[in-house]
Amino acid sequence: MRYISTRGDRTAKQFCDILLEGLAPDGGLYLPERYPQVQTETLEAWRSLSYADLAFEILSLYIDDIPASDLRALCHKTYTKTAFGTDAIVPVRQLKEGIFIQALSNGPTLAFKDMAMQLLGNLFEYELGRRGETLNILGATSGDTGSAAEYAMRGKRGVRVFMTSPNGRMSPFQQAQMFSLLDENIHNIAIEGVFDDCQDIVKGVSNDLDFKARFRIGTVNSINWARLLAQVVYYFAGYLQVASTPGARVSFTVPSGNFGNVCAGHVARMMGLPIEKLVVATNENNVLDEFFRTGIYRVRAGAETYETSSPSMDISKASNFERFVFDMLGRDGARVKALFHDAISQAGRFDLSATPEFQRARETFGFVSGTSTHANRLETIRGVYASDGALLDTHTADGLTVSRAFAEPHIPMVVLETALPIKFAETIVEATGEQPPRPPGFEGIEDLPKRVHLMPANVDQVKDYIRANT
Ligand SMILES: *Cc1c(COP(=O)(O)O)cnc(C)c1O
Repeated sequence: MRYISTRGDRTAKQFCDILLEGLAPDGGLYLPERYPQVQTETLEAWRSLSYADLAFEILSLYIDDIPASDLRALCHKTYTKTAFGTDAIVPVRQLKEGIFIQALSNGPTLAFKDMAMQLLGNLFEYELGRRGETLNILGATSGDTGSAAEYAMRGKRGVRVFMTSPNGRMSPFQQAQMFSLLDENIHNIAIEGVFDDCQDIVKGVSNDLDFKARFRIGTVNSINWARLLAQVVYYFAGYLQVASTPGARVSFTVPSGNFGNVCAGHVARMMGLPIEKLVVATNENNVLDEFFRTGIYRVRAGAETYETSSPSMDISKASNFERFVFDMLGRDGARVKALFHDAISQAGRFDLSATPEFQRARETFGFVSGTSTHANRLETIRGVYASDGALLDTHTADGLTVSRAFAEPHIPMVVLETALPIKFAETIVEATGEQPPRPPGFEGIEDLPKRVHLMPANVDQVKDYIRANT
């Protein structure tokens, strides 16, 4: 399998080359040159597999530059009951109202980003070891991504993490999760500023190409193809848990921000998984809902990007969305470049409403969408607590809210649970008056010793810190 760029560069790359790279050289995102097809018989045969073996089967359709036995071992090392809490890894449960919830949030940091990041940690260690190279991951986080990256990379040979976060702006639980990591290869950098300052620092350091090359600076952001590929697996695993007959159709609702998670659902559907609808659920930052309703994609300015109670979906643009547009436009790289490079940089928007491709998008690709607000979130959390006696996290509540408009008789609807409620306790208390339960192992983490360096929002000081610690 070879990989190509969404902006037309057809220099074919192998999986391990793009594993350690970010964007393609022309600024596009990598996608496989085609989607391998999974027939019903194969899918049915996969029912009996463990999650790790299912992951191996799917990954091996896309990765041919890691020997099969090594790839299988990496899958088994990653997807364990110890790391993810159950043998099913992504168990599905049914709510009283009939809708299914698929748990993706039982990994080490209690959010779905662990599903991919845990694999990425093992892939990085493997590939860097094979090449005799090292990598310094520099990132910016407002919560879930940073902690998932740190828990995936802690103790890994050849990898160091320098993670910036806005000082005092993460939830106390999220801060405690990250700052209590004492591993030598993990560096928490609290920046005196907001999340945008952290992102500017990452950009500032990466724009110094000399520094970037000399200190082997890399990233683990959500546009990484390996992360997306790892996420494809749980759509198959969820499907097999709720589809009672071969070929039965199933719908998924996905709480969405950067379009990474639901893009993996799109890939699964393109591979032939019988997905009826892919429901994109956004919060008040409804860039994606606006597109799927109107055909207009409009990047938001800072003042129009809201801080909400489902903060991991607070985005101004959806960084993986370009992948879907590439497929929607029949993989026309020149057109994608005109939209994402030219139109977005000049006007901050593009309009596909009049194109036949957009008009066919729902039918061809199954995408529909909706927006959920703070009031919807509270009501859904309260309602499920009353009917089922269980608490949902705020992002998952956005998903459930939106899913209800698209649930159909005889087609199971699966909402992806992207975090556990404990991570966003304040809103859960606001909705129900109850403190969410703490999973075992997380008692008292706020009181553990912390390892964090406080710094002003200054690129040179962050560079000095990296220099001194590599
Ligand atoms: C990252 C995240 C999302 C959004 O996922 P995307 O891939 O960015 O669309 C939703 N919920 C939670 C809890 C997250 O951490």
